Order: sequence, then structure tokens, then C-alpha cells
Amino acid sequence: MRQVFLASRNAKKLEEMQRILAEHLPDVEVLGLDDVAPYDEPAETEPTFEGNAALKARAGVLATGLPSLADDSGLCVDALNGMPGVMSARWAGLADAPRQEKDDANNALLLAQLADVPDERRGAAFVCAVAFAVPGEQHTHLVLGRMPGRVIRETRGDGGFGYDVLFCAEGHDVTSAELPAADKDAISHRGQALREIAPLVARVVSTH
Ligand code: IMP
Repeated sequence: MRQVFLASRNAKKLEEMQRILAEHLPDVEVLGLDDVAPYDEPAETEPTFEGNAALKARAGVLATGLPSLADDSGLCVDALNGMPGVMSARWAGLADAPRQEKDDANNALLLAQLADVPDERRGAAFVCAVAFAVPGEQHTHLVLGRMPGRVIRETRGDGGFGYDVLFCAEGHDVTSAELPAADKDAISHRGQALREIAPLVARVVSTH
């Protein structure tokens, strides 16, 4: 079976990406970090989602020799001038805590920061950059997805991950943690970006 490597440590994100890719690349096996030999993953040192996604995808190619995908994503909040943005995963500073603890701390901090922000100024967007790097090619392919919406005042739902419990997409009164997985995929930043890159991935893996 044709293979593509997907460089993500976030199990929930990986699950989401594998689900979306399975629909669009049914004949391609999507390997995660646990399926390949361990390697030194790059620190996310770039100031943009695109830059960090490209770092991770290129490191994936070097380590595995396979065409490699990576995403970098986050929540950009209008009232915080676009932050947490690329800092979304480590917004509350708990770099080494278990994921649920980190998510809870990030959500509590965001709620506190927006406590005095009125409903009409709680706009935000999830943004996702997906990078695709191909062995032997200098150029790294990049696509961007965006899901606009707003940050609510209390956590709701138990699906998804990260800030999903605080975020209602435009036109929705439920959070992205309350949406069935397929409904989130249909509108999400990650779904948009992966659907855009999928035809290229299909072409590349068929010749590798
Ligand atoms: P990354 O692993 O460095 O790309 O960090 C992404 C972080 O952004 C995650 O840990 C979440 O906090 C947040 N994030 C990105 N996409 C989503 C999503 O679809 N739902 C909820 N939170 C997300």
C-alpha cells in the first residue's frame, strides 16, 4: 500500500487528520510518529503556522524518507490581537503537562483573559497550515484553512480537543466539541486544508 507520513504528536489531532485523509485518500496508508523509528522532532521556533508546519514536514522527510505531511494550528482571538495563535498549545505555559491538563489550563486562562470582553467583540478563528514535503524536492507545499467563529463564556461539550469546548463556529450555536466529528471535519480549518492538499498527496504517493 502507498504510504504518507504525518508528523504529529497530538493523538487527537492525528486521529482527526487520519479520519479526513482516509475519506480522500482511501488507498494510502497514513503513518504517525508511533509507526516510524524515533527521531529528533524540531522545536516550533517559527513565528507563523506555515513556518512551523514546514519545519515539521521537512524533518519528517529527512527522518523517514517518505512524503510527509504536518500541520500547525491554533486559535486566533480578535480581542487578543490574534493570540494565542502559534502559541495556542502552550498558552498557559504548561509545556510538559499531560494533554488534558494543558488543554484545561489553556481554556481557563483564555476565559479569564476574555472575562470583560462583551459578546460582540468575542470573534476568533481557528487557523491551520498544512505542509507537504516530498523527498528530493526543495519546495514545501503549503495550504491554509480557517474556521471563523466566537469564544463563548463557559466550556461545553466533550468531543474534539483543545479550545473546541469554548468555540462556536460561525452560524452555529453549539461548540465544535459538541458537533459530531464529521460535522466538525466538514467546516474545520484542518478539514479545509487537508481536502485542498489531498489531490496533490494522491498524485505524489502514486509515483513514490
Ligand atoms: P500545535 O500542535 O502546535 O499545532 O498546537 C495546536 C494547538 O492549537 C492545540 O494544542 C490546540 O490547543 C489548538 N487547536 C488547534 N486546532 C484545534 C482544533 O481543531 N480544536 C481545538 N483546539 C485546536
